[in-house]
Amino acid sequence: MHEYSIVSALLDRVDDAVRLHGATAVHRIRVQIGELSGVETGLLHEAFLMVRGSTVSAEAELEITAVEAQWRCAMCNRIVARGERLSCPNCGATARLAKGSEILLERVEMEVP
Ligand SMILES: [Zn+2]
Repeated sequence: MHEYSIVSALLDRVDDAVRLHGATAVHRIRVQIGELSGVETGLLHEAFLMVRGSTVSAEAELEITAVEAQWRCAMCNRIVARGERLSCPNCGATARLAKGSEILLERVEMEVP
């Protein structure tokens, strides 16, 4: 499943942070998941619960923030509302996706002795 490889990649990055800071445990992992990222947050959470056991994040909680898609004009940066045509009401230029495709490790809360 797609979500398992994403969780593994996230936990690898958490592991890097843990080693960098000499942490002994991870309490909370916060991620941002864009609605157009193709990630099913329910499955991501399930995958996390399966995978975390063998890692330093075994006791960690996963906090998922869903990020709504947003489009902006490529020329003047105006926000183009959901459901509007993907061209700018100001200048007519093409809007492009500004938010909503991200899979982002936002924050790791860990125990540093
Ligand atoms: Zn514009």
